[in-house]
Amino acid sequence: MDDVRRGRVEVISGPMFAGKTEELLRRVRRARIAGRRVEVVHHALDDRRGEGLVSSHSGLDIPSRAATSAAEILELVDPAVELVAVDEAQFFGPALLDVVQHAADAGLVMIVAGLDVTFDGRPFEPIPALGALAERADRLTAVCTVCGEDAPFHERVVASADGDSLTPGVEHVGGVESYQARCRVHFEAARWRAAGAGGPTVTTR
Ligand SMILES: [Zn+2]
Repeated sequence: MDDVRRGRVEVISGPMFAGKTEELLRRVRRARIAGRRVEVVHHALDDRRGEGLVSSHSGLDIPSRAATSAAEILELVDPAVELVAVDEAQFFGPALLDVVQHAADAGLVMIVAGLDVTFDGRPFEPIPALGALAERADRLTAVCTVCGEDAPFHERVVASADGDSLTPGVEHVGGVESYQARCRVHFEAARWRAAGAGGPTVTTR
């Protein structure tokens, strides 16, 4: 097959709760059905997972190897491997960009899934830059926990002193923080409220 050794980059990005890992694992399964040799890699600091596994929220697990740096990703890869899937790739930091590009130049299919936005709504490198240099980039959305619309953001929420309610964005010493998916309307509103400001005035016509 002409395309077996043709390298490429695919990026799966989005906020938390967007199903990025599920999509990564879907592509891994498809590649295996097609007879490709696949290696799945995660960062050693990403300790939310079970030992040596990539687990999606839907509970589908696939064996994975831990790398301590971007450079180490390729050291883990056997020469026979054709496709490398990197989960939670934001853990690898800026060095990931060159590693992925070089690997694809050398003929590997690199599928990279990771967060591309911070909880306060800023681009989270290196994933956005990686998407700009990819053959394919898919940005997934989550579901807004307030209204059910597409959620391109996730927001940090902290438990209030009474532990009953969750307040967006603000630091709260001793509070339990977690994250929720938010649509543009509910993300913006909460952000400007937390800042104690009315936000920018946007005139539309
Ligand atoms: Zn909403």
